[in-house]
Amino acid sequence: MMGCIFCAIAKGEAPAEVVYEDQATMAFLDINPATPGHTLVIPKMHVRNIYDLNDETAAAVMRTATRVARGLRNALRPDGMNLMQANERAGFQSVFHFHFHLVPRWVGDGLRLPWKPEQGDAQAMAEVASRIRKVLIETKE
Ligand code: 5GP
Ligand code: ZN
Repeated sequence: MMGCIFCAIAKGEAPAEVVYEDQATMAFLDINPATPGHTLVIPKMHVRNIYDLNDETAAAVMRTATRVARGLRNALRPDGMNLMQANERAGFQSVFHFHFHLVPRWVGDGLRLPWKPEQGDAQAMAEVASRIRKVLIETKE
């Protein structure tokens, strides 16, 4: 679909800190540097909302979300993640491509990752992504 930033990321045509990828799904850090570890999980096909997900893709995207959640927990040592699903125009969506948000619970709990303001955001994001990737490789099933 033209103009969908998440489809562009899935095709490798837009930059993103990818932490996990397989044939059908992808997980990458949210571009918002104020929320370190906040990760988005998508199917590589353009699906606008949960109603349009086929069973196979639903299973694949949930499996990826689960694996990445474990990786985030292990890499960043938070007390856990919240998994939220974003649909098309529901709420205040900015991207109309079905996606999961994996949100570190420490944001709500007032616990924070060390986030050095003197670092460039891109560098800090790359470091967080590389820690997550490392754990996901180490714990690969
Ligand atoms: P929504 O606003 O639809 O709930 O979530 C979309 C999320 O995607 C937002 O948290 C936003 O920060 C993130 N986002 C938007 N554009 C980009 C992008 O180009 N790259 C990455 N990595 N994240 C993006
Ligand atoms: Zn899309």
